[in-house]
Amino acid sequence: MKALFEGIIPSVNYHLWEPCNMRCKFCFAPFYDAKKLLPKGHLPKEKSLELIQRIADFGFQKITFAGGEPTLCPWISELIAFAKEKGLTTMLVTNGTRLTEEFLNSNKNHLDWIILSIDSADDETNINSGRAVTGKTPVSLQSYKIFIDAIKKHRYRLKINTVVHRLNYKELLLELINYAQPERWKVFQVLPIKGENDLHITDFIINDFEFNHFISNHRQLKEEGILISEDNSEMKNSYVMIDPAGRFYTNKKGMQEYSSPILETGIKAAYDQMEYSFMNFKKRGGLYAWKKAI
Ligand code: SF4
Repeated sequence: MKALFEGIIPSVNYHLWEPCNMRCKFCFAPFYDAKKLLPKGHLPKEKSLELIQRIADFGFQKITFAGGEPTLCPWISELIAFAKEKGLTTMLVTNGTRLTEEFLNSNKNHLDWIILSIDSADDETNINSGRAVTGKTPVSLQSYKIFIDAIKKHRYRLKINTVVHRLNYKELLLELINYAQPERWKVFQVLPIKGENDLHITDFIINDFEFNHFISNHRQLKEEGILISEDNSEMKNSYVMIDPAGRFYTNKKGMQEYSSPILETGIKAAYDQMEYSFMNFKKRGGLYAWKKAI
C-alpha cells in the first residue's frame, strides 16, 4: 500500500448516500447540497468504485462506509469488497436494522468492522429523538442484543457509536455496553450543523457540563480506554469525510463546506482544499490499531 503524504489523515468516511430508514431529528447527514448537484443525490455505482480506487491509490488506509443507512444501498457489498481488495481496512456504520444473516454472512471476508449506532436503550427516548424505523418503530434493547450476537457470531470487530443529547444524557447504558463488549465505544456530543439539522436541533443541544455528566456516569469504561468521548470542538475538522456527490467536506465552521468533486479535480487537490487538521485527528484518538488481527 502506498504511503500517504506526511500530515495527511489516513482514514476516510465515505457517506455514500443519504437514504435512511430512520428519522433522527439531529441527523447531520441529509446532504441537501448533493441533491442540488446530482439528480439522484449520490454517485452511481461505477463512479463510487472509481472513487474508492482513488482513495486507495492516494494511500488512505481505512475507509468507513456511512450514509444515510449504507446497507440500503444495493451495491454496498461490491463497494466493500472492492475496498478490501485494494488493501483498505473496511468499516460500516449502521443502525443495525438491516443486518440480516445473509448480509453478515456474505460480507464477512471483506468487512472488518461494524459500527453500530445506539443512542438509548429506552423505546420512548428513541421514538422522541426519531432514532426509530420511519421515526415510529424503535429498536428494542432485546433486538440490539440480537444484532450484537449476530455481529459477534460472524466475528466482525465491533464498535458502538452513541450521540448524547438532551433526551439521553442522563441515561446509563452500562448494561448494554457491558453486554456488547465493543472494542471501542465512541460517544459524541450532538453536533449542530447549520443548514443540515437546524429544524429540531435546539431540542437536542446539550452543554459541556451535561455531556460530561454522561461521560462521568460511564467513567469506568473511559478509564479502561473503551469509551472515547468527543465533544463538539473535538469533532470539528478532524474527520476526512466524503459526501454522496464525491466531494470532501468539512464542518470546521459549524456548516458543511465542500471541495471540488474528487473525480474531476484529483484527490490531492481536493483534499488540500479542506485544510483538515491531522493534529485534531490525533488528539481525538483517531489513530489506533484498526487492522484486523490475523
Ligand atoms: S440512523 Fe444515522 S443516517 Fe439515519 S437518520 Fe439516524 S443519524 Fe441520520
